[in-house]
This record gives sequence, structure tokens and C-alpha cells, in this order.
Amino acid sequence: MVLVHTVEELQALLDGHRKSGGTAGLVPTMGALHKGHLSLVERSMRENDVTVVSIFLNPTQFNNKKDLERYPSDLEADCQLLDTLGGEIIAFAPSVQEMYPQPDTRKFSYPPTDSVMEGAYRPGHFNGVCQIVSKLFTIVKPDRAYFGEKDFQQIAVVRRMVDALALPLQIVPCPVVRETDGLALSSRNALLSPEEKKIAANIYKALSESRKLAASSSVSQVRDFVVKAINAVDGLDVQYFSIVDGKTLGEVSDWAESDDVVGCITVFCGHLPVRLIDHIRYK
Ligand code: AMP
Repeated sequence: MVLVHTVEELQALLDGHRKSGGTAGLVPTMGALHKGHLSLVERSMRENDVTVVSIFLNPTQFNNKKDLERYPSDLEADCQLLDTLGGEIIAFAPSVQEMYPQPDTRKFSYPPTDSVMEGAYRPGHFNGVCQIVSKLFTIVKPDRAYFGEKDFQQIAVVRRMVDALALPLQIVPCPVVRETDGLALSSRNALLSPEEKKIAANIYKALSESRKLAASSSVSQVRDFVVKAINAVDGLDVQYFSIVDGKTLGEVSDWAESDDVVGCITVFCGHLPVRLIDHIRYK
């Protein structure tokens, strides 16, 4: 693994790989890496000659200052984790000044994918995501970019952006990596106490149970079941649970409306509280 902090250093390394005909994969992250991130890096390493892992806590995608301030970050630990994978990895950890020499005033808008759910509760969040991801695409010019289905809505928004800008790269969605009790791995889990982490496992438990229920129940019955089951747990509070078409992210009121139906949830957990997102595929 090589660690670089500037666009110039990164592009010099990538030029070397390109001259010998190599392909490049990009894994955008905000650091505090865990096994979920590593699964994306490993996939990219299998499919490309070199993998760029960007580690950048992007301020423009945080609509809540406190959330940004307490977001975990440990570049040294991240590099050690990446080192365990061996192979051709470039860790790109730029400063805010390096990524935003001037304020980024660009506006991206891909409704309804970016206006519902996370878009509604975190105004400006996906605009910030599109700003940083489009910049990374311009800098790295990857052949493939890897995104976790953990952030299900983010993939839908990024796909819309790639289509709208006609960017010549492939978006590769990767499955959610979970703890053995079902809790989706997340950098924000580090902000939970051990007890709260156990409590948080009830989110995926309820989602999994609701999938069994879906065969014999209506969409609204399934929705009510999930919200009630999770809110019944002390320390959990559902912000929203939407059952949507997996591509357009438009709400579905009947299972027959789509052959790609996904339930997306955000739950407040614990004393801070920490906002946890997860999803389940029904069809
Ligand atoms: P983040 O650092 O949270 O912005 O995440 C960087 C990338 O890793 C995003 O594409 C996430 O969806 C992905 N990711 C985060 N957690 C997981 C997980 N548990 N399983 C798979 N991918 C994940």
C-alpha cells in the first residue's frame, strides 16, 4: 500500500499504471475502515490492476455539524488495515483544501432518488455526495467504482449521476457485510456502547422477520410490523421506514407494483443517539 495526500502524487502513480495498460478501481470512503470497506477493496483488487481507496471525511455531505465533528477517524489504523490486504493499493487521503481549493457551488438534483428518505431527512446530503464522488471520478478516472449496498440510496443517486454526466465507468454494487448478530458494519457503530450495539442488532432482526411476513401480508402491514417491532425496543427509535422500488426509490403500496422492492430504514440508537441505516430486499 502507498499513502498519498495530493492529487498530483496520486495521478503520477496512476499514470505509471495506465502506461502499462492497467485498469484502476476506486473505493470512495470516509475512513474509520472496517471489514465492510475491506470487502469492497478486495473485490476491486480482484477486478483491477490497481485500487485507489480514497479516505476523506467529506464536509459537504454533512448537514449536521455535530455529526461531522464526532465522526470517527484514524488514518494510521486505516493504513494498517489496508496493508493486511497486500497488493496494489493506493490510499488517497487528501486535505479539505486539496479537494475543495474553492467552495464547490455545483448543484446536483436527481429526484426522486435524492429527495426521498435520506434526502428528505438530511437536506443537501446527496448534493455533497455527488460533489465529492464526481470529483474523485474526474481525478482518478477509474474503470470501475465500488459502492456498498449498505448505503442503498447512495448507489441509486450515484447511478443517476453517472448516467446524467455520461461518465465512462462501471458502478459495482457490493453486498452488506454484517456482524454475526446481523448488525450492518458501519464506522458509526464505534460510537455505540457494547450494550447499544447489542440493542442495534434488533434492527436487522425485525427486517429479516418482516421478509417472512411479506409473503402473506400487505405492504402497509409489513411497514407497521417493522416500525412497531423496532420502536418496542428500549434505545431504538425509527426515523423512517419506506418500502420502495429498488431503482426509482418511489414508494410502493402494493407488492405487484414492482419486481424490485426494498425496505429502507433509519433508526436512532442509544444515548447520542447514533443514526443507523439498513435495508432489506423483499423482491
Ligand atoms: P463510508 O466510509 O461509510 O462512506 O463508506 C464507504 C463505502 O463503504 C460506501 O460505499 C459504503 O456503502 C461501503 N460500506 C460501508 N459499510 C459497509 C458494509 N457494512 N458492507 C458493505 N459496504 C459497506
